[in-house]
Amino acid sequence: MITRPAVLLALCLAGALACARTSRAPARGPEVVPDRLVVLTFDDAVKSHYTTVAPLLERYGFPATFFVTEFPQPPFSDTTLYMTWAQIGDLNRRGFEVANHTWRHTHVDQMDSARFTDELRYVEEKLRSLGASTPMSFADPAYVTTPDAVRLLRDRGYTFARTGGDRAYDPVHDDPMLVPSWTLRETSRDTVLAALHEARDGHIVVLTIHGVPDTAHPWVTTPVAMFEELLRALREGGYRVVAMRDVTRYLPTERRPAAAHAAPR
Ligand SMILES: [Zn+2]
Repeated sequence: MITRPAVLLALCLAGALACARTSRAPARGPEVVPDRLVVLTFDDAVKSHYTTVAPLLERYGFPATFFVTEFPQPPFSDTTLYMTWAQIGDLNRRGFEVANHTWRHTHVDQMDSARFTDELRYVEEKLRSLGASTPMSFADPAYVTTPDAVRLLRDRGYTFARTGGDRAYDPVHDDPMLVPSWTLRETSRDTVLAALHEARDGHIVVLTIHGVPDTAHPWVTTPVAMFEELLRALREGGYRVVAMRDVTRYLPTERRPAAAHAAPR
């Protein structure tokens, strides 16, 4: 015999399941993260990004994100070592993501919210003046982040903030404001090539690369031959290479920016 409370309980459970299904089934996505997914990111607007990296990426058909900044302070202020804003605009026209790495490469723990806002806005306005869309991706200078910085970035409509940490990124469980990455440089070749194997089971491998080569910051330089070795490993290993912004489709709804935050700034 089915009692009235049992029927009510069954109805409640069915309702709860329906609600749970509804809340987990957004109109679009998230998609399941495929194995062998790699995000390539390039920091600091180094000249070789324009002269060497972008042409090589185009030869392989690989998208990427370029996190751009200026270095107005000596000893890093020699502008001949960096891309011009016109060259950055050209990367955008060629389909690469150009994104924010602060105006003056200032570490986010060294700025109050007003200064951080100014540093973000400078790059946002530069990119807009070049015809690029308002950036949705940010990279923490020197991999430094703080809870206040995360809040401010989220309030300004950013979706991703990439940091360091040498581990794979899980878009379902990790905060997109704390996207971990490995850095390729002269001393980390073996570590990075081994890390590619971690791009599986819902995890994405995000790589940070500076200049190829990087004469402005030699401690993070990547030799051209090593970079080409990475590109060959990605192609021969059947990896899918994307830009940071392309990861949005794998984010659960609750990790995507609210519509109000995505308004122009
Ligand atoms: Zn940097």
